Amino acid sequence: MMFTKEDLQELVAYQAEGPLLSVYLDVDPTELTTEEYKLALRQMLKQANGAATPADLTAVENYFSHEYDWSGRGVAVFSRVKEDFWRAYSFAVPVSSNVTVARKPYIWPLAALLDAYGSYAVALVDRQELRLMLFAMGELQTTEKISGEEVRRLKKGRGSSGGPGRRGGAPISSQREEEVAQRNIREAAKATERFFRKYGPRRLILAGAEPTLPIFRDELPKSLEEKIIGEFSADMNASELEVGTRSLEIVQAVERKREDELLETVYTEAAKGRNGVIRLDDTLGAAHEGRVQTLVIAHDFHRPGYRCQNCAYITDHALETCPFCGGQFAEIPDATEALIAKVIEDGGRVDVVDKEEHPKIAQFGVGALLRY
Ligand SMILES: [Zn+2]
Repeated sequence: MMFTKEDLQELVAYQAEGPLLSVYLDVDPTELTTEEYKLALRQMLKQANGAATPADLTAVENYFSHEYDWSGRGVAVFSRVKEDFWRAYSFAVPVSSNVTVARKPYIWPLAALLDAYGSYAVALVDRQELRLMLFAMGELQTTEKISGEEVRRLKKGRGSSGGPGRRGGAPISSQREEEVAQRNIREAAKATERFFRKYGPRRLILAGAEPTLPIFRDELPKSLEEKIIGEFSADMNASELEVGTRSLEIVQAVERKREDELLETVYTEAAKGRNGVIRLDDTLGAAHEGRVQTLVIAHDFHRPGYRCQNCAYITDHALETCPFCGGQFAEIPDATEALIAKVIEDGGRVDVVDKEEHPKIAQFGVGALLRY
C-alpha cells in the first residue's frame, strides 16, 4: 500500500491518550541481512522499554516476526494497542532506524520522505525519442514513450547520393537532420509539459546525453525549468532499474542539501541570538517554553537528565529545585527522547540527522529553530 499525503494527515491529526510507539526500521537488503535488522530492532525496542507500553512493544515485535514480508527498503509502524491504533507502511526508499514514544505519532521522517520522494518525473531524451517516467515514493507509477521523426544518420562516403546541392558548406542532408532533431526535441519538451499537467509531479530530473540535454532544457518552459533538481547521462535503452537508481541518488542529494541548510540556519540564528538555539541545555529551555518550531538532532545523541515532577521541565543539569516552579527532579535515562516527545506533542517538527552525512551536527548535538 502506497503511503500518501492523506495517510500523513491522518497520523498528524492523531492525538493519543497515552504513550504511542513509533518505530522506523531501515531494512535495505543491499546493506545488511534480515537477521541483522531483526537484531537492530530488538535493541531499539529495548531502549524504548519503560517509555512504551509492553503491549505496544509486543505488537511491534509480532509484526516483524510474523506479518511483515521484508520487502522494500524502509518500514514505519505506529502502535497504541490500548486505543486500537495500528498503522504499518513499507517503503521502496530508505528510512533511518528510530524509536520514539510520545502522545502523538512521530511523523517527521515520513513528511521528509513525502517531500523528497513524493512524486517526481524523469525525462530521458535523445534526438528522436522521449521516455517519461513518473515515480512516487521511489516506485515507478507510469511511463510514456514518444517517438519523433527518424533522424537519419549521415553515412560516411555518400558517393553519388550527395548530389550537387550544398548550402553554406554544410551538406543538405546534415542540415535537414539537425532540423528534424530540433523539431523532435521541441516536441519532446511539449510532451513533457503535457505529462506534468496530467500527473502533477513536483520535481523533474533530466536524463540523456550531450549535446541534446542542454537543448532540451532550453526548450522547456520556465515553470518546468524551475522543477529540475538534477540530471544524469543515460542512453535511450537504460533499464527502469538504472533510471530509478540514478534518480534516487539525485533526490537523496537534494534531501541532504535541505538538511545541511537547516543546520546552517539553526547555527547562524543561534550565533546571532535570534530564532535559534544550539546545545542541549538551551534547547531544553526553549522546548519547555513551547518555542521549538523545528528540532534538529544527531541520530545517536542521547544524554541522561532530570525531569521536574511538577511542571515536567527537562534538564541535563543536576539542580536542587526546578527554576520554573521550585519542584523536585527525578532522574530520567534519556533527556533527548523526552525532548523529542515534548516537541512532537507541541506540534513542532523534528529532523533526526546523520552525523556522517552532516558533520556540523557533531559540534552541538542538538539545536532548534524557534517560533518567536
Ligand atoms: Zn518545575
